[in-house]
Amino acid sequence: MAQKYQELMQRLNDVHQLQASAGLLGWDQQVLMPAANAHARGAQLAVLSRLAHEILTSDETARLFEDAERELNDADYDSKEASMIRVAKKDYDEAVRLPSEFVAELARQTAVSHEVWAQARANNDFRAFQPTLERMVELKQQQAGYLGYSQHPYDALLGQYERDMTAAQVKAIFDEHKPPLVSLIAAVKERSDRVSDAVLHQPYDIDRQRQFALDVVAGYGFDFTRGRQDVAVHPFCSGFSRSDVRITTRFYEDFLNPSLFGMMHEAGHGMYEQGVSTEIDGTLLGSGTSLSVHESQSRMWENIVGRSRGFWNWAFPQLKALFPEQLANSDVERFYRAVNIVKPSFIRVEADEATYNLHIMLRFELEMDMVAGKVKVADLPEEWNDRFEAYLGIEPPSDALGVLQDVHWSSGLMGYFPTYALGNLLAAQYYRKAIEERPNIPDDIASGRFDTLLTWLNEKIHVHGRKFTTDELTRRITGEGIQSRYYMEYLEKKYGEIYGL
Ligand code: ZN
Repeated sequence: MAQKYQELMQRLNDVHQLQASAGLLGWDQQVLMPAANAHARGAQLAVLSRLAHEILTSDETARLFEDAERELNDADYDSKEASMIRVAKKDYDEAVRLPSEFVAELARQTAVSHEVWAQARANNDFRAFQPTLERMVELKQQQAGYLGYSQHPYDALLGQYERDMTAAQVKAIFDEHKPPLVSLIAAVKERSDRVSDAVLHQPYDIDRQRQFALDVVAGYGFDFTRGRQDVAVHPFCSGFSRSDVRITTRFYEDFLNPSLFGMMHEAGHGMYEQGVSTEIDGTLLGSGTSLSVHESQSRMWENIVGRSRGFWNWAFPQLKALFPEQLANSDVERFYRAVNIVKPSFIRVEADEATYNLHIMLRFELEMDMVAGKVKVADLPEEWNDRFEAYLGIEPPSDALGVLQDVHWSSGLMGYFPTYALGNLLAAQYYRKAIEERPNIPDDIASGRFDTLLTWLNEKIHVHGRKFTTDELTRRITGEGIQSRYYMEYLEKKYGEIYGL
């Protein structure tokens, strides 16, 4: 019975296990490995990636796909079998279009480019990075050509992170909420004296920061018997199966936000990975459906829950017990306002909920224009600064605080940025549906009970893993595709109240 399908599964299992092993080596590189070993680790990762690519794109795999599709063409769309073939076939179609010489050249260029970028950023020297970035843009244009697209080359790049989403769709969603965001931020600016975040910028003992943040995310429902937390320079979450999900955090001695909200954020990603159904665990389906849906989970726990008044009603007394001196002159309301301050800033990763999506829109527009050849790399700093001032009302004083700040372009990750902003929108859209179906959620959060929300997310989103696309999943849950208006409603209500707009 379904013998070809079983054979296909065995091959896909080899691919998945190789990828998971490569992922673990990648985690090790960022968390534990001596930096001096970078070359040897690169060689190990290259072999694993090549083997996975070879197995996935082999003629035998292609034949098995055809046979298995014939064998199972009556299978229900939602079934594990139909989903496995549908999703894996997309992975296959994409992998097989890229010649292996191109894959190797891209990997080589990425390794070089990363070093050049890191140096250029440290020296605030865009011109030193320019030729490398020009080469990367060429490679990305080639890649789009290999992958194929119907309207814009950017579609092909975006499609690697968001199956079936196009640049035109993203542009429409962004165009819709850019003007209200710009005016919201301008209105807040008029009343910026209403909120101070000085309380967050004080000496905070790192061991106590860790203790508090770990308690919070354990309370959220991150399962430490199936996961762990470590320190890393650039925080991230890696899942190798639902029983091994690892989050990382960075700590600052004089600023509370990075550890606390960073831990909530990564735990949001982690609980998604831990919630995948056992039926598809350890397969190509056993991970988040897309980057935007993944980001919706991290943003929901970090912002919608972790920056809510209800959450702080519950959490503030506990934080104050750990830091009585620092919080002696603060109360719940002042602290709640402090963690929700809106202040245009130059660095994306430090941006508040209101300004964040504007940082993304700027990058999205520039990426599209670069890939289409409309904006030359040489003109990028000027283009960046002009748009930044138009959207956020401030002009970056240096390229290090402007066009050079992110790692993505040097790593060839073009088409990736929009998923962050879409994640914010989806977080608001899903949360709205969650409280419609489970009206107790806000009260439960205010009394430190997070399982009502987590169970809902588990049932509606997590169990499905990669079975559905972002659009399919969002329609199943909310009855409509991705919308920006729920995010805007959420922001306008919250900041309207805090800033008295
Ligand atoms: Zn994230």
